[in-house]
Amino acid sequence: MPAEAVDYRTMWADLGLDLEKHDMLLGVLGQAYETLFLSQKSRPKGMDYFNFVMSEVHGLRVKELRDAQAAGRKVLGAFCVFAPEEIVTAVDGILVGLCTGADFATEEVEKRIPRNTCALIKSAFGFTLGRVCPYIETVDMVVGENTCDGKKKAYETLGTILPNLYVMDLPQVKSANGRSLLRAEYERFLHAVEDLAGVKVTADRLRKGIRAVNAKRQALHRLARVRAADPAPISGLDALLVNQVAFYDDTARFTSSVNALCDELAARAARGEGVFAKGTPRILVSGCPMAVPNWKLPWIVEGAGAVIVGEESCVGERGARNLVKEDGADVGALLDNIVDRYLQVDCAVFTPNPDRLAHVKEMHTAYRADGVIHYCLHFCQPYLMESYPVAANLEAAGIPTLRIETDYGQEDGEQLRTRVEAFLERLR
Ligand code: SF4
Ligand code: SF4
Repeated sequence: MPAEAVDYRTMWADLGLDLEKHDMLLGVLGQAYETLFLSQKSRPKGMDYFNFVMSEVHGLRVKELRDAQAAGRKVLGAFCVFAPEEIVTAVDGILVGLCTGADFATEEVEKRIPRNTCALIKSAFGFTLGRVCPYIETVDMVVGENTCDGKKKAYETLGTILPNLYVMDLPQVKSANGRSLLRAEYERFLHAVEDLAGVKVTADRLRKGIRAVNAKRQALHRLARVRAADPAPISGLDALLVNQVAFYDDTARFTSSVNALCDELAARAARGEGVFAKGTPRILVSGCPMAVPNWKLPWIVEGAGAVIVGEESCVGERGARNLVKEDGADVGALLDNIVDRYLQVDCAVFTPNPDRLAHVKEMHTAYRADGVIHYCLHFCQPYLMESYPVAANLEAAGIPTLRIETDYGQEDGEQLRTRVEAFLERLR
């Protein structure tokens, strides 16, 4: 791997990164990756590719994006799974996720937004204000999505810091009106993307975009399904990593790498091989998204002797489930298909939101989980509000459920471990 051979410091300096702080960040990230991921036993060979991607996350991938820009393509960044990648792909653009999984420049952040804001929103500000994220500095447009109240109001402030922030409005109710709003907003986004790229979206271009993103989602569906095997052929940590990489890797390359990994996992499952012993307690994690490098909970769970077999999360199955229909004679019809697919995302900002509970139960059965850990970030109103009824419903259906509320800090690690261990005792 040529990782060490290339010096990206000139590129990072060109992007205006704070090199000293950026070095610190990479040091912490690299260390954490080694401890949490590389030390795992019986890892599938197919994870080598994802290790490589992680080792180059601020290097080669950013260079690729800059090379694409030099060749005339546009790069967009988004914080949420409601940004339709199909539309960006239709103009030959690239959509990357702006990860928000670590605290940074907290003092600076709290001068601008309240302390009791969720860690995810704070992280978006921290990486921007701290000038440590090469993606935020690279992208031609940042897409903000009006989902929860925290994000909505935060974008008003973020827009004063990021000149290229585009805010998309989103419905809160899955009604006919809600659908019309999403349809109108996706159409507005399509035109904004056309203007940015200087490319007109045709039905052929949009269909191609839909196919590419569908193929990526199908690969992720395969990965989800193969985890139903006991023993589990891949750890939850590694599966989460694949789901995280889905947000910033090249779509076609990622799709083929996930498919290759799934071939290996299917063969493993057929031989009865796994990363943990058969009969290991199986956990489904449900709740807030876990962006890179938020690996605390899976690490504690798997360190305590359980295996995570699914994530009902935007970085996981909530974000990847369902495909966009590929038939449709014109751009309008294909856009309708896109709206139909995205309106099924069961984010907790929707009211009411019965599909989410149904999906958790479905996943619990499909992946043969023994229990559910409901994961929430402090101050995340939508998921915290849902955590009570979701947990009560699951318990009533005989599914043991543990509710966890935490943030990106490590201070509560031991306390979490104790609670997770006690929960696992219930499952054994
Ligand atoms: S939880 Fe909701 S707001 Fe957050 S990324 Fe998912 S869809 Fe977007
Ligand atoms: S839905 Fe929750 S985790 Fe997501 S941005 Fe809003 S408050 Fe934060």
